[in-house]
Amino acid sequence: MYTLGIDIGSTTSKCVILSDGKDIVAKSLIPFGTGTKGPTQAFDSVLSEAGLSESDISFIMATGYGRTTFPQMNGEMSELSCHGKGVFFTHPDCRTIIDIGGQDAKVISLSESGSIANFVMNDKCAAGTGRFLDVMAGILMIGVEELETYALRSSSPVSISSTCTVFAESEVISQLSKDVNKDDLVAGICASVASRTAALAKRAGIKKEVYMSGGVAQNGGVRAALAKELGVEVRYAKDAQYMGALGAAIAGYEKA
Ligand code: ADP
Repeated sequence: MYTLGIDIGSTTSKCVILSDGKDIVAKSLIPFGTGTKGPTQAFDSVLSEAGLSESDISFIMATGYGRTTFPQMNGEMSELSCHGKGVFFTHPDCRTIIDIGGQDAKVISLSESGSIANFVMNDKCAAGTGRFLDVMAGILMIGVEELETYALRSSSPVSISSTCTVFAESEVISQLSKDVNKDDLVAGICASVASRTAALAKRAGIKKEVYMSGGVAQNGGVRAALAKELGVEVRYAKDAQYMGALGAAIAGYEKA
């Protein structure tokens, strides 16, 4: 039996097809999120990669910010539940998930059985989310995927004092005009996201093992800064950006 999970995020659309609730058959990611053609393209692309058609899928579960907008879905589930299911499936030793996406950040505590014991989230402010990093990468004229290379070269991160993305943007522009070392500036930007997320994590409580999910998990600069702030190893969930879609495919299997 095939089930499909679609995670319609603010910046990207991700799909995963699972066979019998356990084997990943195909996955797709389109860098356009809710309100665009991204979800349909991700859906078509994952079916084509799997060599399947829509009628072969027993259950389509949607999650993410735009989860209610996908006409082909058979059901929808919250991102918290789906990230919990996805990360616990891939890493059963996980007890804390730190998920930083394009416009929010969540910290989820899992019980021994993988159910959600507690969570704290920031969906009110761009600081501490992927959006902050996207804006800063734009000012620095580099790709978000390059941020970690710069950050990990720095030995003396610049302190970014503004807590608001708009003010921090001006602060970074001012630092750039003073010819501050770019590695140190990027390390400071990653540390700023880490410090906001660490505050959330401390509210939720940190239990080992700690894994990051969501797109920002791919940024080793943020992972390293978070580990330093929290004093624990912060692991990188395999296929971190697909964890919501994977969890949705698992939930679809449970429903079907
Ligand atoms: P959403 O589900 O809200 O669309 P995602 O979990 O897909 O969010 O994460 C999107 C964020 O991930 C982007 O805002 C970007 O900052 C970050 N990101 C995406 N790809 C990469 C990458 N290769 N390296 C580092 N960060 C990335």
